[in-house]
Amino acid sequence: MAIRTRFAPSPTGFIHVGNLRSAIFTYLIAKKENGTFVLRIEDTDQGRLVEGAVNAIYYTLDSCGLLWDEGPDKGGEYGPYIQSQRMDAYKKYALELVEKKEAYKCFCTEERLASMRESGYAKYDKHCLHLSDEEVTKKVAEGLPFVIRQKVSEEGSTSFTCQVYGEISIDNKEIEDQIILKSDNFPTYNFANVIDDHLMNITHVVRGNEYLTSTPKYTLLYKALGWDEPTYVHLPHVVKEGGKKLSKRDGDAYYSDFINKGYLPEAIVNFL
Ligand code: GLU
Repeated sequence: MAIRTRFAPSPTGFIHVGNLRSAIFTYLIAKKENGTFVLRIEDTDQGRLVEGAVNAIYYTLDSCGLLWDEGPDKGGEYGPYIQSQRMDAYKKYALELVEKKEAYKCFCTEERLASMRESGYAKYDKHCLHLSDEEVTKKVAEGLPFVIRQKVSEEGSTSFTCQVYGEISIDNKEIEDQIILKSDNFPTYNFANVIDDHLMNITHVVRGNEYLTSTPKYTLLYKALGWDEPTYVHLPHVVKEGGKKLSKRDGDAYYSDFINKGYLPEAIVNFL
């Protein structure tokens, strides 16, 4: 099987060296087997977009020699490679999940959700899961805004295997009925990554270990859609001496911080 990996940064600022480290592994896993390295821009969180960030991504990867085979500027068979241009696909699959009763429309207002949290709920209380089909049709006809939530069983557990961390299992009752499509039709990251990794035929998903706890949600989505899961590779974070986190304040978080201090791209890549 031909290996396809992707680096999927969000254009929210400069590239963090932790992200760059993920990109290096993603690139090497593909190239070691003559595979394909895809660049996908994840811009569905429109409030966090930063002007010039896409160019910073191109520039950083380019200067580090991490040349992508498919991407927004290169094209390829699985485009478009910018999530905001793939909105139809997210909506289509979200509605398919509603149809299959694996997801549901939720009309809860911000006020209701806030008061739920204040009363101590750690996750959504499934209020709208219990609406009848007639009630849902009526609310939609009234023009009430809604989101689409993934329906997660309260029973059993969900497991997946990561090539680095091994088998990980989580009780389903810990998993929230997360929002997959927002009321403005934009998908959440947690939904879009699954749809795109499948549609782009990604074989190995390589990313930071902060995504380990969300992965069971993805496993459930793949299952609900009847799709095979990719191989997961979660990477530990790069830290400094004493296990301390790299930080913006200390000027050691971004690739550009090191370049500004005079480090050569080759040295940074070598270190990472
Ligand atoms: N857009 C996510 C980020 O920038 C990508 C995570 C992933 O690789 O799935 O953190």
